[in-house]
Amino acid sequence: MLEKVLIANRGEIALRIMRACRELGIKTVAIHSEADRNLKHVRLSDESVCIGPAPSMESYLNVPAVISAAEVTDTVGIHPGYGFLSENADFAERVKESGFVFIGPSPDNIRTMGDKVQAIKTMKAAGVPCVPGSDGPLGDDAETNMRLAKEIGYPIIIKASGGGGGRGMRVVHSEAALISSIALTKAEAAAAFNNDVVYMEKFLVNPRHVEIQVLSDEHGNAIHLGERDCSMQRRHQKVIEEAPAPGISEELRNKIGMQCANACIEFGYRGAGTFEFLYEDGEFYFIEMNTRVQVEHPVTEMITGVDIVRQQLLIASGEPLEYKQSDIKIHGHAVECRLNAEHPDTFMPSPGTINNFHPPGGPGVRVDTHIYNGYAVPPYYDSMIGKLITHGNSREVAMARMRGALSEVVIDGIQTNIPLHQRLCNDSGFNAGGVNIHYLEKLLGIS
Ligand code: ADP
Repeated sequence: MLEKVLIANRGEIALRIMRACRELGIKTVAIHSEADRNLKHVRLSDESVCIGPAPSMESYLNVPAVISAAEVTDTVGIHPGYGFLSENADFAERVKESGFVFIGPSPDNIRTMGDKVQAIKTMKAAGVPCVPGSDGPLGDDAETNMRLAKEIGYPIIIKASGGGGGRGMRVVHSEAALISSIALTKAEAAAAFNNDVVYMEKFLVNPRHVEIQVLSDEHGNAIHLGERDCSMQRRHQKVIEEAPAPGISEELRNKIGMQCANACIEFGYRGAGTFEFLYEDGEFYFIEMNTRVQVEHPVTEMITGVDIVRQQLLIASGEPLEYKQSDIKIHGHAVECRLNAEHPDTFMPSPGTINNFHPPGGPGVRVDTHIYNGYAVPPYYDSMIGKLITHGNSREVAMARMRGALSEVVIDGIQTNIPLHQRLCNDSGFNAGGVNIHYLEKLLGIS
């Protein structure tokens, strides 16, 4: 077992990782910026190191500073959490070269999945269903591209292979706009990602976002933990997630889940990962793989009883998975609301001091947060300050518990998106289940 783990992250996920380490008897090192001295996990971890000033570029994204902190503390493993350096293949490589264990997949796997054309090629070869498309980079021949788009059928979407965070994409509705759109996306991609490779996919008009959680060890074992529905999004940012996805049959879950687990074995994946799909008319279409733990992992933990961060630590220690596929059973339903320090109507960030915090409680309620009375939310980082997760024997019970939790929670001193969550959890469309990825923006009148 890894004896000591450095947590290369902040906020709720750093606390989550620290707790999983503690349960396994692993010592922890917290690294933090000058603005984050008062983070809860910094106080609770065995050791802590300040690695630089507030801006992420000078602290959490500063690779030499992170590696130095690992060296001076005799760290064994480095857990990157999500965001920051978690999907940076060069960082994973540096960690390895410096003699530490990266708690995640190999640099090669991260690199492949970070390049969309490569990722799709790999998935296709491993038998994962993908969106009908160009099967590789688009060339410069207009005739060929026009024929391709016609075969796929409009609308189509041009996507940058190096794109991310919802950037580097352009929808094309007719042939008239095709050639100029390809040129524009290429130019933008070259400027933004230093990579002008673009490809073409069928544009799915009203899909849902459904993703599969996998765990894979180095002993040839890979399992899936079912799916999550993360269709409630604004500007490609997930707002509410749930598991299982409404209306997905056990048969379909097992089919797509096994395809993902088998793909992990095929391309030698190690660790926790998520296959993201668009789901439309009963079909799954792969869009990308996240090679890290995700914000929404708790909903899967609630319905399966599997501690995903614990499994990450075991896998990185070279241990086999604690579960076989036949051990995984889905119990009830779970919902997660992401709590953000932001104005509920304008979405403007709202940093400041929390002068009153009362978390909700009761059966089936989980609160993953680093905030406390007197904690000052700094203005430098992502506005997410925690997650409310509820579980129940049915979706109705999980939703009723979420409405209860939202009415109980008190966070004073800053603005939060709790009113938005209350509105959504009382919304008849969302309560019916199975809304698509455009639902929230339509509801808000911004699309
Ligand atoms: P990123 O890495 O930037 O997040 P993704 O490939 O995951 O890029 O796509 C981001 C979002 O763009 C998806 O969640 C979906 O809303 C939309 N999108 C991407 N590809 C398609 C497609 N083929 N059809 C419809 N929407 C798409």
